[in-house]
Amino acid sequence: MNKFLYKIQQFMIGRNGLDRFNKFLFLIYAVLIIVNIFVNSLIIYLIELALAGYIVFRTLSKNLYRRGRENQAYMKIEAPVKAFFVRQKNKIRDIKTHRYIRCKHCKAQLRVKHRKGKHTVRCPKCRQEFSVNIRI
Ligand SMILES: [Zn+2]
Repeated sequence: MNKFLYKIQQFMIGRNGLDRFNKFLFLIYAVLIIVNIFVNSLIIYLIELALAGYIVFRTLSKNLYRRGRENQAYMKIEAPVKAFFVRQKNKIRDIKTHRYIRCKHCKAQLRVKHRKGKHTVRCPKCRQEFSVNIRI
């Protein structure tokens, strides 16, 4: 292995490194840089500097317990947002063959075949039957 990479690897032992929260912060940092190219604001520049400092601090931090808790708190927020976008992507993918409906009893999202008219559907989660009317 390259001697320089080996030294970096040795330096990073016991440090937080790049977790998902850091990657998200880096994405915000990149967006702020691009926005500031057009806006050229001192306030955004100072936010960029603070964010860059925080990213470096989190990456090099040896307090793995606290960084891990921050990362878990972030991932609790990220999971439902990510699930929402995956559902939207699936709705677009299946637009010709299926429809997505909510169970009237437990609010679970169900994927039913696209057949126009009234149908009776059984929710696989709560086992309740209810009727749906698929119009388009
Ligand atoms: Zn249900």
